[in-house]
Formats: sequence, structure tokens, C-alpha cells
Amino acid sequence: MDLPIPRPNADTRPYWDAAQQDRLVLQHCADCGAPQAIPRSYCGTCHSADLTWRESSGTGKIASFSVVHRAPTKAFRDQLPYVLALVDMAEGVRLMLNVIGEDRLDTQIGDPVRVVFEPRGADGFKMPQVQRSPA
Ligand SMILES: [Zn+2]
Repeated sequence: MDLPIPRPNADTRPYWDAAQQDRLVLQHCADCGAPQAIPRSYCGTCHSADLTWRESSGTGKIASFSVVHRAPTKAFRDQLPYVLALVDMAEGVRLMLNVIGEDRLDTQIGDPVRVVFEPRGADGFKMPQVQRSPA
């Protein structure tokens, strides 16, 4: 069973379109400069509607994580156990991503990680995830 893929909307489409090209982009406010993790039509800091998308460094650190042993739906059974993490990106936003890779179960808080793009489903829709990276 294929894993579910996101349904982009007007606010999130630039994020997902970039991911299909192996690029992580983050929304930034053109007025106050604040980055934001959740794409939306206004700045969560100053409420400006003048937002831009910038390429992320793709690097961050594990802020917290959970090892999932029970699948939320049948589609995730083949993934078990998987690691769901909060990642503090170098740009100052916190993203929720999966840690993938053979060593994912060795994940620890503070581990440096880098973004990778995991294809899902028949069409290979790419999801930003992270892998642990050597310090
Ligand atoms: Zn702002």
C-alpha cells in the first residue's frame, strides 16, 4: 500500500513544487525577515502579506523525536519502526520530518541532520525528510 502524499494548496504549493526538484524552500517575510515553518498568506510575526521563498541550507539538528512502533494507518505498517522528529533548521524554523536511513533508530537529540527527498507512491511524489549526517 502506498504511503499518502500531501495535497498542495495555494499557500503550500511552492514548498511542494520545490521538493519535486530536490530543493527545500522556506517562506520568509520580506518586511521583517522572519522565516516561518508553516506556509501561509501572511507573516506570523508582523502580519505582512509580502512573503518570499528562499532556498534552505537543508541542514539542522534534532530537537526531539519519537520512534513510532504502531502505524496510524495500514499504509505505514511497512515503515515500522519509523522515526518522527522535530528538526531545528539552520534558518531558525522547526520542521516535523521523518528521519530515514539505515541508522535512523540510533537518532539522538542534537544530532546534525540534512534534508533528503523521499519518493512516495506510484508517481514518486518527493517528501522532504532528513538523514543523520556525520558531525
Ligand atoms: Zn514579518
